[in-house]
Amino acid sequence: MSSSVILPDDIREYHDPPEQVQEKIEQLMELIRNSKHMVIFTGAGVSTSAGIQDFRGYLTLAKQGIKSTLSDFTKIRPTIEHVAIYKLFEAGYLKHLISQNTDGFHLRSGIPITSISELHGNINIEKCPKCERSYWRKHDVRDYEIEVKGTHERIRHTTSRQCVYCHCNLRDTVVNCFDRTEGPHLFPLETAQDHLKLCDLYIILGSSLTVYPANYFSKYINCQQKPVVIVNLQKTSADDIASIRIFTEIKDVLIRLCEGFQLNINSGITDLETDLNFKEMIIMPYAIRKLDCIKEKTEYLKKKSETELMMFLTERRIAYEPPADAKIRKDHLVATVIRHCRKTVYWV
Ligand SMILES: [Zn+2]
Repeated sequence: MSSSVILPDDIREYHDPPEQVQEKIEQLMELIRNSKHMVIFTGAGVSTSAGIQDFRGYLTLAKQGIKSTLSDFTKIRPTIEHVAIYKLFEAGYLKHLISQNTDGFHLRSGIPITSISELHGNINIEKCPKCERSYWRKHDVRDYEIEVKGTHERIRHTTSRQCVYCHCNLRDTVVNCFDRTEGPHLFPLETAQDHLKLCDLYIILGSSLTVYPANYFSKYINCQQKPVVIVNLQKTSADDIASIRIFTEIKDVLIRLCEGFQLNINSGITDLETDLNFKEMIIMPYAIRKLDCIKEKTEYLKKKSETELMMFLTERRIAYEPPADAKIRKDHLVATVIRHCRKTVYWV
């Protein structure tokens, strides 16, 4: 390992010699081949090449009354790193993704919402505090006003829009550094923990692991005696427990993994150019998305009114002719809704 420029310890970058990087990537490929439930954790390092302005940057602008340019999504797009991670998911190697990034790029690159835990929220998602429906927008949903509570100041979470079902004011889902324990978007932690219990290979990309719960997850996996792999240019708090520690660009590792597994990254890049995966939609609450067996889905749907079930189908432009016999209409509707959402654990 050799250091490049002399910088303060926490931001100093290290680079493994090329032959060592290659050797470590081959070891990593072997671990991936033998893994049944690989989980990747991503930090800011996977998004920096997209030109993302970090939270401190927009807070400074907000205090000056200037609306950040972060909301201009026509200019900021997911990167090749996001595409490569999606390709690993699509090919079945990656089972779940945990991210502390709020830029929403993993979702935009094609990772389904059921396969990602966005621990710090998503700037494109606003949520109804009453019915817990989430709305995935094509723009940054945050309102940049500063709210003062006692001696504390913070970004106001209420957005200017309302839930179409219960008319409550929607809240953005981004967990800011002064939110303490009252962050509006805590449910991803539960999903992440569900997958960490199953995880047999944990890969950390682009995080120095200084923030809770990121620093705790790697220790948990290590206690389970499962391998932890870290790719980051700076040192991290979990380096001493890593089975493989790679000091190189994340892009370098991901591209070579895709090449090694014969995954075509270029096809993913074409999709991103037109943002085919980025569609506005309503996401049902986590508790409902978790219902992955037909019996539970049926029980849940039976409690819905016929009007609600019809609305579900109409919103998805699903042609449906209800049977004339009123006695069987409800069961028929429930069966139709299930048929149309069998492939998805969540109902959008
Ligand atoms: Zn609502």
